[in-house]
Amino acid sequence: MVTLEDIEAARQRIGEHVVRTQLRRSQALSWRAGIPVYLKLENRQQTGSFKLRGATNALRCLDGQARSRGLVTASTGNHGRAVAHAAGTMGARATVCLSALVPANKVEAIRSIGANVRIVGRSQDDAMLEVERLVREEGMCFVPPFDDAAVIAGQGTLGLEVADDLPETALILVPLSGGGLAAGVAAAIKGRLPAARMVGVSMERGAAMAASLAAGRPMDVQEVETLADSLGGGIGLDNRLTFPMCRALLDEVILLSEEEIAAGIRHAARIEGETVEGAGAVGIAALLAGKIVSDGPTVIIVSGGNIDPAVHRAIVDDRDAGLAP
Ligand SMILES: *Cc1c(COP(=O)(O)O)cnc(C)c1O
Repeated sequence: MVTLEDIEAARQRIGEHVVRTQLRRSQALSWRAGIPVYLKLENRQQTGSFKLRGATNALRCLDGQARSRGLVTASTGNHGRAVAHAAGTMGARATVCLSALVPANKVEAIRSIGANVRIVGRSQDDAMLEVERLVREEGMCFVPPFDDAAVIAGQGTLGLEVADDLPETALILVPLSGGGLAAGVAAAIKGRLPAARMVGVSMERGAAMAASLAAGRPMDVQEVETLADSLGGGIGLDNRLTFPMCRALLDEVILLSEEEIAAGIRHAARIEGETVEGAGAVGIAALLAGKIVSDGPTVIIVSGGNIDPAVHRAIVDDRDAGLAP
């Protein structure tokens, strides 16, 4: 398992290369919930999501020779963008394999910073097959999106920032997909603030970690379209780190409907003045839906802001965003 010491070492390694994001009190959510509620604004991180933390730590842990062979990854978008960005700052080449479900704005953002993009199949699993081929045939170096000690430790650095900024934190809401974010933040928080509760939040449609935790072993779940597109994809049937860490460290997992996620995006835009993608809005959405019971200061990890502008406008205006109910 990844330890508090690993996460502190990651903070040393990446500190000057990532933004230390703001923890901002939300007056509207505090009033609504009857407890102080804070937003950790990783939608304002460089590249638009926390994924830059894990990618930067992973790349800086590699030796120069591994980096010079070229980096490759599969992604729902944000990890690919983070790897492409971190590679660019270190003069390395990155190839990002994406499924056809990845929104166009994310594909374009990855291309625009000089990465080589390959669109393959309709799922994360399909994209991973192409990664395996590139590793095997072209000797590239794989940067995993979540099930990797350096990636988890990098994501955990935002948990250290929360513990420093708000030592009285009683509960943290963390978006949950492959579990790199949840595992890292939970390891940091449980290490620093042992009494704080950790709650993972996913969408009802295709939540692989939630299904796996319920079953007690990694499970395959069909990947379907959701407003929380960054939360799609499996956890890997051969998962080594994030599944056992989430099982040990998460106190609860909450699932949300597409309507509830849309309400979270809308609140973030209209009331908080923040552009937040579906995955980044699930903590706000869980609170608005009344699915959270907390008796003390509550921190919502707003994990990313890379939403397609047309989809965002439709949701904020309360029009149909083109997704099945
Ligand atoms: C990747 C991602 C998540 C989920 O992170 P995992 O480590 O896969 O659980 C949540 N929100 C956003 C914006 C993401 O890009």
